[in-house]
Amino acid sequence: MAEQRVPPTPNNFHVWFKYSLGTPPELRRAIDILIGNKLKFNVAVNQDLFETYIGSKGADDAVAHDVSQQLHSVMASARQFLTTAIADNRTQMAAISDVTAQTEAGVDPKPLVASLMNELAKAATRATKLEAGFAEKSRELDTIRDSLNKSEERARTDTLTGLPNRRALDEFFRQAQIAAMEQGDPLSALLIDIDHFKRFNDEYGHGVGDHVLRLMAKVLREGVREIDLPARYGGEELIAVLPGADLATCATVAERIRRLIAECHLSRRSTGEALPGITVSIGVGQFQLGESMADLIDRCDRALYVAKRGGRNRVVTENELDLGLRAG
Ligand code: GH3
Ligand code: MG
Ligand code: MG
Repeated sequence: MAEQRVPPTPNNFHVWFKYSLGTPPELRRAIDILIGNKLKFNVAVNQDLFETYIGSKGADDAVAHDVSQQLHSVMASARQFLTTAIADNRTQMAAISDVTAQTEAGVDPKPLVASLMNELAKAATRATKLEAGFAEKSRELDTIRDSLNKSEERARTDTLTGLPNRRALDEFFRQAQIAAMEQGDPLSALLIDIDHFKRFNDEYGHGVGDHVLRLMAKVLREGVREIDLPARYGGEELIAVLPGADLATCATVAERIRRLIAECHLSRRSTGEALPGITVSIGVGQFQLGESMADLIDRCDRALYVAKRGGRNRVVTENELDLGLRAG
């Protein structure tokens, strides 16, 4: 940080700590490119690095502050360790050369050797103590890393459903897009919207609505593979990005999820009263090389709109867009 003249603020510390850990790799790549191109780490660049790779403005400031404090303390401890070790080393070198000189002069070296041994023993004790202190600081570093990871996880998770949020989606898509372009594999997305959810909320209350949303999230999470990313896209809209899946495969997954949701039986926990079934409409699209995530989601959204107009509780792919527009 000093080399690049980056001011030691908590946010910058956070960025550069992650850089030194090498996670995420894109952060490391971004900074290396900046350094390689001899670009200045000015306020705007530093802020951008923080916001893009670590957190939004003001997010988890407390954690960032702790990190900065603890790193300062770890570094101070390392510096003390080194300074003492180097000073001790110099003293010992001087004492050994004294012994050598006295021996050459024919003086009895025994008392000198004894005092040298004494000094060496004291230095060893000092080093052991410092080493223990340093080890303790290193353990603190592990704690810092854990709390950083947790705060990052929080920044990427939707609190209501526990699904990855928009930010996690953006990051995932950025990676998936690169992989798709490099390997030529397909990449698809499905956008889900709950049917007549407003009516449901109005009739049973927002709390019950939230419960339904969590249930949808669970079905979605369980309905996709490990390598896919289910996320909460907006209020009552969920999304899943499926690397390696073409339009037909994604439509099959969407259809399975739609059916699973339609088959859910809901009841009020307090009274046991059965609630009306919930259905969803799903729009499916496949990524086209060179387009943005917004373009892809826009097509999914238009397909979703066709599904709504077609009577809801159905899956529509982008292939049916023209048909839908003509019908509309
Ligand atoms: P459609 O079938 O056309 O999608 O009808 P809809 O009523 O679902 O559509 P609309 O977009 O008009 O309403 C979405 C509703 O979703 C409105 C809002 O109350 C509800 N909603 C959005 N976010 C949340 C949430 O976090 N919790 C709850 N309970 N409801 C939410
Ligand atoms: Mg909606
Ligand atoms: Mg809706």
